[in-house]
Amino acid sequence: MHTIEIRPEPPAAGDRNTIGGHPVLADGQSWPACFCGRPMVFFFQVDVPAFGGDHLLVFQCPVHDDPAFGPAELPARFWDEVVEPYDGPFWRMFLRPAGTPSPEADPHIEPRRLVLHPAEGRDAPGFKVGGDPSWVQEPEHYRCACGTDMVFLGQVPENFGFDMWPPRNRETDDQAQLFLGNELYIFACPARCHPEALWPALQN
Ligand SMILES: [Zn+2]
Ligand SMILES: [Zn+2]
Repeated sequence: MHTIEIRPEPPAAGDRNTIGGHPVLADGQSWPACFCGRPMVFFFQVDVPAFGGDHLLVFQCPVHDDPAFGPAELPARFWDEVVEPYDGPFWRMFLRPAGTPSPEADPHIEPRRLVLHPAEGRDAPGFKVGGDPSWVQEPEHYRCACGTDMVFLGQVPENFGFDMWPPRNRETDDQAQLFLGNELYIFACPARCHPEALWPALQN
């Protein structure tokens, strides 16, 4: 398990573990857009040691940010198909081998450098990758559309706030949240059947 430290400074050029900033997209990949047409907010990215250093990226619409719920047996192309409560995909997560940072930077989130630290214990709470989930409620299990049981990849704590950039209003502590601030458990297909075979389990 690795805990994720949020450093006060912005990322340096070429940093691959960041909040906001320049996402490491695949060659030729365009910036993800929501079903509503808005470019998504780029929230964070990390290299995941437990997945051979593959690179996780997390995006979500700036407007559509409700919790998503899916069946334990996820359907084909669930990253496009499981979209309740909306009419189409409103988040995007990717896990793939290393690429190079996009020349475009996210305009919404104040960019920060992230640093991963090896940590003892597997189920400690917090912003982390690897280990086991620190469940708020009952444990959940998901099976990928390819038939493989999904495994826990990482966790973002409940009410985790991402500072907006430029600051819209520091007095009110204006922050963006993923999935309305629910505790986020990211599951991944260990067969790596698709770069978007990732599922956001949500609890509060
Ligand atoms: Zn949207
Ligand atoms: Zn799969």
